[in-house]
Amino acid sequence: AKADGSRQIRFFDHSMARDIAHRREIETELRRALRENELAVYFQPIVELETGRIRCFEALVRWFHPERGEISPDEFIPIAEESGAIVTLGNWLTAQAASVATSWPEEVRVAVNLSPLQLKVPGAALGIISAFREAGLPPERLELEVTEGLFLEDSPNIAMFIEELSGMGVRFALDDFGTGYSSLGYINQWPFSKIKVDRSFVSGSQAGRKSDAIIRAVSQMGKSLGMEIVAEGLETIDQVRAVREAGCTHGQGYHFSRAVPAYQAALLLAEERET
Ligand code: C2E
Ligand code: CA
Ligand code: CA
Ligand code: CA
Repeated sequence: AKADGSRQIRFFDHSMARDIAHRREIETELRRALRENELAVYFQPIVELETGRIRCFEALVRWFHPERGEISPDEFIPIAEESGAIVTLGNWLTAQAASVATSWPEEVRVAVNLSPLQLKVPGAALGIISAFREAGLPPERLELEVTEGLFLEDSPNIAMFIEELSGMGVRFALDDFGTGYSSLGYINQWPFSKIKVDRSFVSGSQAGRKSDAIIRAVSQMGKSLGMEIVAEGLETIDQVRAVREAGCTHGQGYHFSRAVPAYQAALLLAEERET
């Protein structure tokens, strides 16, 4: 039994060491990737359910590693946050996304995800502002997606950031709604123009009537406050019908399109204008 125990411990140590080594490797690789243009920005449409038209594209980062293949943002964003590389990555991504968006019709916005850690650093607003200014994108066409996690960070920078940018006309969306504390207080307190209901609420029949009731309540409240309600992760036409019926104004998900490179986003818009 003793031998077993020590073997177990040793095994555990090895895997932890491997994990740390792996993270450190990704961190170094990420800095290299930023320099060597291995990162790309993809765009996923957000569709107005009533008209079926694309109103916005969410910018999502993609990393194509020469040896490892594609690395998921869920794997490297947390590492980028810990190492501080998220600031460089976020400003780069905003600049790229804004510059692509200038080629779209005026009424189509671009949404960029912001990590709470990105906003804590002094001068965070400046980085974002210079990113869309340099691209020549009017601030009204930029949307910043933030999660509730942002408000757990008790940082004066964050309030300043939101006030400064929303004062310029930049819009804010509350992302992944329903996964965190889902405090309605945040919605009241901050100038959100959009709530994105998390995929876990729309993933279909097994989510059930309870999810449905929550979507209904959020939609109703959002509408009365003049907000858009986006349902995330719509994969089937039945899900689209269900969330529309529940009061969501917009939808996003594989049913409409996956995140695609800029040239394909332009094709989606061109197709739309033909019909
Ligand atoms: P998110 O902001 O909630 O983004 C939506 C995620 O859901 C994306 O995954 C998207 O590809 C995926 N998705 C969209 N429609 C569907 C669907 O119908 N079914 C399913 N199963 N999934 C769908 P992705 O691109 O892997 O990104 C994962 C997360 O990584 C994002 O979640 C976001 O939190 C983070 N992330 C991605 N890009 C960036 C970025 O540039 N900056 C920051 N800070 N975070 C990012
Ligand atoms: Ca998002
Ligand atoms: Ca989301
Ligand atoms: Ca998410």
